[in-house]
Amino acid sequence: MAVIAIAPCSKLPDYEESVRRAGGAPRVLHYATDSPADVVRGVGGLLLAGGNDVLPSIYGEAAHQTFEAAEAGRDEYELELVRRARDADLPVFAICRGIQLLNVAHGGTLIQDIPSQLTGALEHRLAVPPHQPFDLAHEIWIEKDSRLAKVLGERLEGSDSCEVNSRHHQALKTLGEGLVTTATAPDGVIEAVEDPTRRFWLGVQWHPENFWRTGEFRSLFEAFITAARR
Ligand code: MN
Repeated sequence: MAVIAIAPCSKLPDYEESVRRAGGAPRVLHYATDSPADVVRGVGGLLLAGGNDVLPSIYGEAAHQTFEAAEAGRDEYELELVRRARDADLPVFAICRGIQLLNVAHGGTLIQDIPSQLTGALEHRLAVPPHQPFDLAHEIWIEKDSRLAKVLGERLEGSDSCEVNSRHHQALKTLGEGLVTTATAPDGVIEAVEDPTRRFWLGVQWHPENFWRTGEFRSLFEAFITAARR
């Protein structure tokens, strides 16, 4: 069975359940005892989960007043995991903070606060009761011929858009080297990227893991875990 590494974060259960439902075995990492080198040698794939903001100094900016740091040590730990996963061509699936971390790992930068820094932006931080994280927030437009379009094929039913949930105040600004945009919101916010030259290297800005009960985005986890089995 494909073992999927996940760095600890505050909302683990939905990530773990999404991996299980797609046929994988989640393994939650511990900074102190799981060195990134050992992790990348010992698992089939790396899942980068949601969380607070990546430290702006890592991509060369001063912190915006809304900056909220992630768990101590998490940025450096996950960046090291991504570097090693890239060297090993290990499949990576990155979600919300994960897509932002992935972009920074490729040398990209972030919009630090959408509401105050992007004129005309949609509401990307939909206020939802905690038991309804799957409420849909906005549409995304998906690049045809992308891996994302192929994986979501059945759900798209021939169209090139779908509705997603949205709980982020940051977004990708300049893209990191090797990444291409594969979905955007109608206001231009980047909602998905991938590196098409890699086995599976895909990031999304929404939260597909919240949908494990109903399965709208199960195909994303299934494609990731299929890649992680090889
Ligand atoms: Mn969004």
